Amino acid sequence: MPSTPDSPHLPAVKISSRGVGRLKQGHVWVYRSDIVAADGAPPGALVGVTDERGKALGMALYSSASQIAIRMISPGKLSNLETLLRERIRAAIAYRERVVRDTDAYRVVFSEGDFLPGLIVDRYNDILCFQVLTQAIDTASTRETIISELTDCFHPAAIAERVDPRIRELEQLPARSSGLIQGDKTGTLISMNGVRFHYDALEGQKTGAFLDQRENYAAAAQYARGEALDVFCYHGGFALHLAQHSSGVTGVDSSRPALEQAERNSLLNGREIEWIEANAFDLLKDYSASGRKYDTIVLDPPAFAKNKQSLDTALRGYKELNLRALKMLRPGGMLISCSCSHHVSPAGFLEVITQAARDVHRTIRIVENRGQARDHPMLLTVPETGYLKCLIMHVNA
Ligand code: SAH
Repeated sequence: MPSTPDSPHLPAVKISSRGVGRLKQGHVWVYRSDIVAADGAPPGALVGVTDERGKALGMALYSSASQIAIRMISPGKLSNLETLLRERIRAAIAYRERVVRDTDAYRVVFSEGDFLPGLIVDRYNDILCFQVLTQAIDTASTRETIISELTDCFHPAAIAERVDPRIRELEQLPARSSGLIQGDKTGTLISMNGVRFHYDALEGQKTGAFLDQRENYAAAAQYARGEALDVFCYHGGFALHLAQHSSGVTGVDSSRPALEQAERNSLLNGREIEWIEANAFDLLKDYSASGRKYDTIVLDPPAFAKNKQSLDTALRGYKELNLRALKMLRPGGMLISCSCSHHVSPAGFLEVITQAARDVHRTIRIVENRGQARDHPMLLTVPETGYLKCLIMHVNA
């Protein structure tokens, strides 16, 4: 097995000049097409990276299956991976202590955004929930280190793992089911901006909630008034916040379990909200055709563009939703429109809304141009870490 001059015991991976160029730009990924040789590097190994001449470029975590073959974790030598992982988890926690406010539910580790590629950790009050995205993070020793460090730092009542089967398949990892790794508590109550929610570690989408929208809930609530419609409401994150300042709120989602949880959440907060199980496209079409009007509308659809190929279809979807919502807003109404597809750029998203507004002859002013919450930090040189767009717009006559 070839090894780097700096670290004779580690497998070496040689990358092309295009790969080197990418790292020089500050990115941390090298694609499989830029791997010149990875002879003998086992799946998920810590590897030394070199250019074609053998010059050392740093240390990385290797995947034998993903298109992203290499994720850099250190530009220099690395004597002990466990120490590095522990330090980075502690640094991620310290960062949250500076930027997270008014909640006991937030992302503790955001993969590349926290220099821990392949690892997501969310805190939901006394329950921690983690997700593994790569071969390297899935190794027994790495898992052990992560769980031990999280236990030391938080002393949680339970730690749960949420598995995304699609990701495990892409990484060619053996199938595994979601479950508790430690402790026996699966449910708890969380609070965001003073609004309370039920949390169940083994139910729902993602790790259970959309924490990336937490600050946008509070922002949107400031401008809400009159009648509000929360489209793609899930557990009612926006709806429950809007309810503080609205005369009536309706939430729409196609998932019945999500709406059942939303109803439990409205009871918990003493709010009366109408939840409607429907396909948002059909419902908006019917409502806008029949002349329904609202003062505040939130659109927070799932990621329509999962890859570059589906971008056009995604943009058409966003345009349709925004167009219908604009038709339904009373003069002076507020539209809160989100997109969580990384492949839809902030400029592309603005363009879609501009087109929709032009088609329905509405004039829009941007009140706030927002993104993901601060506990999901975007790393400037890794644009993929930025994905959420949330525009708060005032819609004129
Ligand atoms: N606003 C939510 C997150 C929305 S995630 C929050 O802040 O928590 C997207 C939601 O859209 C999911 O709850 C999913 O069930 C729902 N969904 C997906 N396709 C849908 C469709 N065609 N019509 C209505 N809801 C849909």
